Amino acid sequence: MKWISDLIDLIFPRTCVVCGELLSPQEKDICINCLSTLPKIEKIHLDEIEKSFWGKVEIERATSFMYYHKNSPYNNLIHRLKYKNSPDTGDRLAFLAAKEIAESGFFDDIDAIVPLPLSKRKMRQRGYNQCDYIAKGLSRATGIPVIKNAVKRLKSNETQTHKSRDERWQNVEGIFALSDATLLEGKHILLIDDILTTGATLASCAKSIQEGCQCKISIFTLAYTYNGI
Ligand SMILES: [Zn+2]
Repeated sequence: MKWISDLIDLIFPRTCVVCGELLSPQEKDICINCLSTLPKIEKIHLDEIEKSFWGKVEIERATSFMYYHKNSPYNNLIHRLKYKNSPDTGDRLAFLAAKEIAESGFFDDIDAIVPLPLSKRKMRQRGYNQCDYIAKGLSRATGIPVIKNAVKRLKSNETQTHKSRDERWQNVEGIFALSDATLLEGKHILLIDDILTTGATLASCAKSIQEGCQCKISIFTLAYTYNGI
């Protein structure tokens, strides 16, 4: 059915979310030129990412794929995933990320991928959980299964942006609950989210999981807010 997608492209031209140029039929979300200069996380900041969890929760390792710099046009990729009804962007980006990160052995002893759950209200508003699609892309690339129903979110924490660092940590206490410990017991799980800023939300979820079952936890996010907010 290639002619149908060609026709749709003709009527609704697809453009690169970064530079605005027209995309070829093979390109999705981003053109090949912009993809070649995607701001991937440099080695020096990988340590910083792991350190954001030190003293908060015990994790095995943590990584992220690209920077989320203030005003960077590359943030449009994340905006598209979260706010523009384009969940497949998360799948594609995570697939790409996993293919690159896998070379370092990051996924080697991971048993399951666990997307950070959304609250019911947020799920109703957005219609999908963007983390489910990031999980899907990671799973497609690595073959590691996804477990969705082990953890639930009791409330959302959308007011985070206006809070100080300390307030953010307090604000996320007890917002997650383990709903089925047997699904995670004894496993090494990869907990995932779209953007890592302070790590407070992910740490809170990891804590709730560790309080209810014995498992190892590592962390992956698509993007990392370089300077924090
Ligand atoms: Zn472009």
